[in-house]
Amino acid sequence: MNVQNKIQSLRETLNQHNHNYYVLDKPTISDFEFDQLLKELQDLENQHPEFFDENSPTQRVGGSITKNFNTVVHEHRMYSLDNSYSTEDLMDWEVRIQKILGNVDLDYTCELKYDGASISITYEEGKLTKAVTRGDGFQGDEVTNNIKTIRSIPLQLKGNYPPKFDIRGEIILPFAGFEKMNQELIEIGETPYSNPRNTASGSLKLQDSTEVARRPLECLLYFIVGNNLPFQTQFEGLQAARDWGFKVPSQSKLAKNMQEVLDYIAYWDVHRHDLPYETDGVVIKVNSLQYQDELGYTAKSPRWAMAYKFKSEQVSTRLNSISYQVGRTGAITPVANLEPVQLAGTIVKRASLHNADQIEKLDIRIGDKVFVEKGGEIIPKIVAVAERGNETEPTYYITHCPECQTKLERKEGEANHYCPNFYGCPPQIIGRIQHYITRKAMDIEGLGGETVALLYQNGLVKNYADLYDLKIEQILPLERMAQKSAENLINGIEKSKEVPFERVLYALGIRYVGETVAKKLAKHYKNIDAIATASIMDLILVDEIGDKIAQSVIEFFENQDNCDTIDRLKTAGVQMAIDESKSTVVSAILEGKTFVVSGVFEKFSRDDLKKAIEDNGGKVGSSISAKTDYVVAGANMGPAKLEKANQLKIPIISEDDFLGMINN
Ligand code: AMP
Ligand code: ZN
Repeated sequence: MNVQNKIQSLRETLNQHNHNYYVLDKPTISDFEFDQLLKELQDLENQHPEFFDENSPTQRVGGSITKNFNTVVHEHRMYSLDNSYSTEDLMDWEVRIQKILGNVDLDYTCELKYDGASISITYEEGKLTKAVTRGDGFQGDEVTNNIKTIRSIPLQLKGNYPPKFDIRGEIILPFAGFEKMNQELIEIGETPYSNPRNTASGSLKLQDSTEVARRPLECLLYFIVGNNLPFQTQFEGLQAARDWGFKVPSQSKLAKNMQEVLDYIAYWDVHRHDLPYETDGVVIKVNSLQYQDELGYTAKSPRWAMAYKFKSEQVSTRLNSISYQVGRTGAITPVANLEPVQLAGTIVKRASLHNADQIEKLDIRIGDKVFVEKGGEIIPKIVAVAERGNETEPTYYITHCPECQTKLERKEGEANHYCPNFYGCPPQIIGRIQHYITRKAMDIEGLGGETVALLYQNGLVKNYADLYDLKIEQILPLERMAQKSAENLINGIEKSKEVPFERVLYALGIRYVGETVAKKLAKHYKNIDAIATASIMDLILVDEIGDKIAQSVIEFFENQDNCDTIDRLKTAGVQMAIDESKSTVVSAILEGKTFVVSGVFEKFSRDDLKKAIEDNGGKVGSSISAKTDYVVAGANMGPAKLEKANQLKIPIISEDDFLGMINN
């Protein structure tokens, strides 16, 4: 097979696996095998830039930066939907349209109303050419590069598609992905996102498409627009979209009459809570495209469609006060203190107010009765003022930190205010030490978050290096501190000196340096001094380290206080380098040799086999190339690999051969 055909066939294979995984939820190969194929394609594309294709599956990882998003006029306007809230509303709607159509037999397509950001994607000759946000319905922003990173959106269609059409869908963040993103933010001390919808919609306008690629976004499709479409009904349209490779939720249903529409609504009003993503209603569409044509549009929305909104669980109660919390990184969160009230089975006393803009937009004042709602998020939120209180005053957002009185700052484009007094603001100081001792960081046994606060309040620790100077006689006088627990605490601190460097690096609490990034940096630089002296260019070259992280690392080490603290940790005996003696080097027998592993093994898991190669000084390559010395082949080695190895005359060895090599 020549290179061009090889590239083409890899692209097709990868597209199909993407589809199996992200659209059908039925992967047929392991992530590892997928990565191998992708790597193989990447290598070939790098060697043969003449076969570049902007819709290659290798382009999913992003990389492009969009400074300004172009405004694009929609070829077909993107309308809103009329809303209905009751059975009567729907019956009235049916009467209205039947008047226009002349009492015909009507069936309807029922779909869930996905709660995200709408998008219009253009395909020409089966290729994704353009993706535009809804904007004002007439024109939106072109976000093609960002959209291409979403794995469930096909870059190349399959089957019998029309030469040109637009498809409309909703970009959403499923709950699981949203929670994972927030977990990672909490880990690095950032404020979590407030809800999946805003996060999804904010993602579309990120300048760095690599960042978009990291977010577990999905696109659910619901409508095709174009000329000479090969179907007559909305329901067939959904099926056609599926056939061409789009993700169309299977919950969509054909209702033969209004009664079946109502049944659908009743069912999903209950079962919507079991869905992996948020839905706020149902969309009902006249099924026949011909009738849709006859019905046409009002100034704002199609006459042939209607949204039915579920009632969200909402109560009203009095807003007693607003408090402002300061997080570990200085981010300020406004919290509403409410007159306790029963909502969706729990008593709610506090609710999120998000940020200054939201408070101002809703004009929320202390003393007001406010509507509190439980949406997709865990903490309930205030959605509107229900009734203005007596003699209320507008809420002025605080200008100074409630804990240290420093003037607050707000970064361009960010919703949150920050207290910039990182090294003098008590909750930030305490928060950093609390982070330092957590399980994933230094895991200091016998020391908890409250004790940290107590130690700080008693002037015993001001930063994490102070922990190592603590004496038992200093902590014994503390509240509720018995001899035994004081000893445990001191022992726990002592033991933390054995914690490996990568976790120490995470424990330092450098902004944006979470667990994974810390591992990457530790592995790459091996010790703290190398990290401290790395330039920004140098840092960016490390796998998965972007601008934001690199900048933050630089800033951390530019601060003299931080450098002093690290010196003290070093002196105390905390691990500031990877302990090479602890890595399990068994021999150097494979030194200088590169292996590629393929297939399934009997005596090793694939990971163990790779580890055995590395432990003996060898290197593991991800795809076969002229640089490969041996291919270790198990059962079911891929035919492409076999061919490649033969072509390059690379010896293929079995796992027993390999064992023989290292036991020699
Ligand atoms: P609204 O923004 O309340 O006027 O509702 C209209 C929006 O609902 C559309 O712009 C779509 O983004 C969104 N939507 C979500 N699910 C669907 C669906 N199944 N059919 C049509 N529109 C939908
Ligand atoms: Zn402060």
